[in-house]
Amino acid sequence: MTELELRDLRKTYRVRGRPSVDAVRGIDLTLRSGELLGLLGPSGCGKSTTLRMIAGLETVTGGDILVDGASVIARPAQQRNIGVAFENYALYPPLTVAENLSFGLKARRRAERGDVDRKVKEIADRVDLTAILDARPAGLSSGQKQRVSLARALIREPDVLLLDEPLSHLDAAQRDTTRRELKRIQRDLGHTTILVTHDQEEALSLADRIAVMKDGVIQQLGTPYEIYDSP
Ligand code: ADP
Ligand code: ADP
Repeated sequence: MTELELRDLRKTYRVRGRPSVDAVRGIDLTLRSGELLGLLGPSGCGKSTTLRMIAGLETVTGGDILVDGASVIARPAQQRNIGVAFENYALYPPLTVAENLSFGLKARRRAERGDVDRKVKEIADRVDLTAILDARPAGLSSGQKQRVSLARALIREPDVLLLDEPLSHLDAAQRDTTRRELKRIQRDLGHTTILVTHDQEEALSLADRIAVMKDGVIQQLGTPYEIYDSP
């Protein structure tokens, strides 16, 4: 049961010799426990920056991020219990898929080996990775890598799940099955989730609410029905 709250969240990138960029200009948003929010908006509007700040992968210029009412801004990424599946969130090349999945678990707690193996099997089965558990990332298609990233985020059983275009490299059939599985996992395990997508169908089928961002702020917020049916 995890509530996620963003209060006047801001990010300004300052790159030497260039004008600063106000990438996120004050976001206020509360996700109730178990809610899946679809985050939409044109390229460059600040979606990834928002996710990276929540994950602790980017410093915050202003505002606050609260998980169950407690500010997490001062906590490093590993102490936030937030699962992320980002396009550029690299897998470890020397490790097999199974090892990539178990790595975080083993590092986190001194988990029983049998327990870790069972979890890897279970999640691999859910997102269709069983056949490639012994492969290494370099040999995988981009769709397969994407499913490994998703599995790696899920296996940690995070309180909050952040997904940046998690299905973008899958073919149509795989996108359908992975989307359905994602829905099932989210319903079973009740992660509080933000999912960035360009895909209207994905947003409609998965999201409880949709936020539309533009120029670093949320322009529209509502149920999929309200967003897509409004003139
Ligand atoms: P989106 O995910 O919606 O495409 P981003 O959060 O990636 O948007 O980017 C928002 C703005 O911040 C863009 O203008 C982008 O160029 C800029 N930006 C993103 N990352 C950096 C960075 N590391 N340094 C400087 N500017 C950045
Ligand atoms: P810990 O600090 O808990 O020992 P690490 O932060 O070193 O663990 O991460 C262990 C593994 O989990 C690494 O493969 C890392 O890339 C991955 N990882 C770390 N943070 C996340 C996250 N938020 N979501 C998904 N995977 C993560």
